[in-house]
Amino acid sequence: TVPLSLFVASVEQAPIAISITDKKANILYINNAFTQVTGYMAAEILGQNESKLSDKCTPRQVYYDLWHTISRKQVWHGQLVNRRKLGQRYLADLTIAPMLDEHGAISHYIGMHRDVTQAH
Ligand code: FAD
Repeated sequence: TVPLSLFVASVEQAPIAISITDKKANILYINNAFTQVTGYMAAEILGQNESKLSDKCTPRQVYYDLWHTISRKQVWHGQLVNRRKLGQRYLADLTIAPMLDEHGAISHYIGMHRDVTQAH
């Protein structure tokens, strides 16, 4: 079997920005790539909402669809405009998956995104 420390190290070092949040999108964990993409260190963003990344120019419908999907225990994938700590905008290709507890209820969400600005 794979040691727990290997699971932790693989998430830490995965080459995609990963965050784990509570049910209201308050950030509980970020990996190294999240810091590289967004510019935020863990100490600066843990406890804050994912909306801190929002550029606020993304249409409301995108967020509505996102929450409509994930709150029904489905995976959402889409693109939205984010803003780095230093203010620069980037296009984020984002996947959000619900994490379920032993009763099948949503306990957390996991977000995975990459900067796809160059692709456009
Ligand atoms: P908010 O007030 O947060 O919400 C806008 C609309 O979303 C609301 O009108 C409502 O329809 C819906 N909504 C918000 N919260 C809930 C809820 N708890 N239950 C049901 N519906 C709700 N946003 C980004 O812009 N960039 C990201 O990279 C990003 N990553 C995310 C990663 C994860 C794991 C999760 C769970 C969410 C992520 N979000 C991200 C969404 C983020 O939490 C905000 O909802 C979004 O940024 C809009 O923020 P706001 O302050 O403009 O509006």
